[in-house]
Amino acid sequence: MNALIDKIKVMLAVAVCKGATAVSRLLGHGGSSKPGELALKLVPDILEKIHLPETVIAVTGSNGKTSTVEMITSVLRSAGKKTAWNKEGSNQIEGVATFLLNKCTFSGRVKAQVAVIETDERYARLTFQYFRPTHYLIMNLYRDQLTRNGHPEDVYKAIRDSIYPESQLILNADEPLVSKLGVERGQKNVLYYGASFSEDMGSVNPGIYDDAAFCPVCGKRMSNGSQQGHPGMYHCDACGFARPNTQWTMTGMDLCTNRLSINGTCRIRLELGNTAQCYNTLAAFAVTSQVGIDPDTIVNTLNDFHSHMERAVQYQLSNNSGTALISKHENSVSYDQSIQVIRDDQRDCQVMIIVDAISRKYNTSDTSWLWDIDFEELNLPHVKRIFLSGTYCHDLTVRMRLAGIPREKIIVIESIQEAVRQMDLVHEETSYVMTCFSDIQKFKTLSHVRVVSGECT
Ligand SMILES: [Zn+2]
Repeated sequence: MNALIDKIKVMLAVAVCKGATAVSRLLGHGGSSKPGELALKLVPDILEKIHLPETVIAVTGSNGKTSTVEMITSVLRSAGKKTAWNKEGSNQIEGVATFLLNKCTFSGRVKAQVAVIETDERYARLTFQYFRPTHYLIMNLYRDQLTRNGHPEDVYKAIRDSIYPESQLILNADEPLVSKLGVERGQKNVLYYGASFSEDMGSVNPGIYDDAAFCPVCGKRMSNGSQQGHPGMYHCDACGFARPNTQWTMTGMDLCTNRLSINGTCRIRLELGNTAQCYNTLAAFAVTSQVGIDPDTIVNTLNDFHSHMERAVQYQLSNNSGTALISKHENSVSYDQSIQVIRDDQRDCQVMIIVDAISRKYNTSDTSWLWDIDFEELNLPHVKRIFLSGTYCHDLTVRMRLAGIPREKIIVIESIQEAVRQMDLVHEETSYVMTCFSDIQKFKTLSHVRVVSGECT
């Protein structure tokens, strides 16, 4: 009798989810967590009742989840595995429920050989109380949306509570807070990836803050601390906590030619040449190797990989052209990566920073994250002018002044339209716009902005 009731519940939840998704699409809404939310209201433990594929890969971390999940899925499909993944990007329990139930038969069987699940680092513990991933990739823990998430240590605790013994952990060895998760489970069923040259990288902190200076295990200062946003070697003399050995090792990284080598033999061409992309690619390599995909298939697929999440949008104005670097508000590592691009481009340029709405989802006016971004790096001779625009242009102004940017280079115009018009009056070799996913729409939809290539999602 109970089995029959369960069957009816599953059928009902799947039907409700699929029906609500169809209605949502008819109304023109994209990826949504609402259908899953409805199904969870109806059957709270529905995720426990469905039949998942034999291999379930979960991916979490502050930065790079979506790109890495895309890469993993791409490799699995190249290897002929029928793979389901939450492409819509809703990664809290409601979004995961929408994704899985939409992939289910009415009897509750997910129609795939592998499920790849991007999961929000704070809410993974809610999702995984109902099912366990077979492989759990944890990538990094940075300051990200502090008003919502809290400090990385808080996020660490939330992730720790999402880990069950059934899941094999695949961890970034170069991030002390992440590798501590391996220490906590006595290194049982844990595998690591990292860079062989992290010893060289670890001694320099290019960022503003230094969250990883102290040992996450005993709290003492580490003799060679790794730096948030810049992974590296670390060792604690007091308790012995140290960077673990890696199964998958980045043995070469050339950001000029966008090439990466893994374990000395596998060479991969990257779509984007930055440190974060190297780590994401290494993580995708590690996970797909671990589930049995042969190295040639992985390398060939990653060589041709093109993300649908564009990080750069080429635009043309009347007199100027340039690149919009899509960054994440409330996430300084993301902005630091964009600044790295401007710093490495030696051409004379103008830069515009737009901070208009801090969050798409949450009502916050917190600007503390502006103080974590390494704006000092923009104090360069080839950066001729910096336009500050949007509601928070005056907060940006104070930050720029403290970063030592000469007063004559700073132009503050709250109206994005007017700021773009002013930027277009003076010709420079190129220009850059730095802003987030939602504020970039306000730039792209201006009548005198023509998008040449790249769409952000
Ligand atoms: Zn220690």
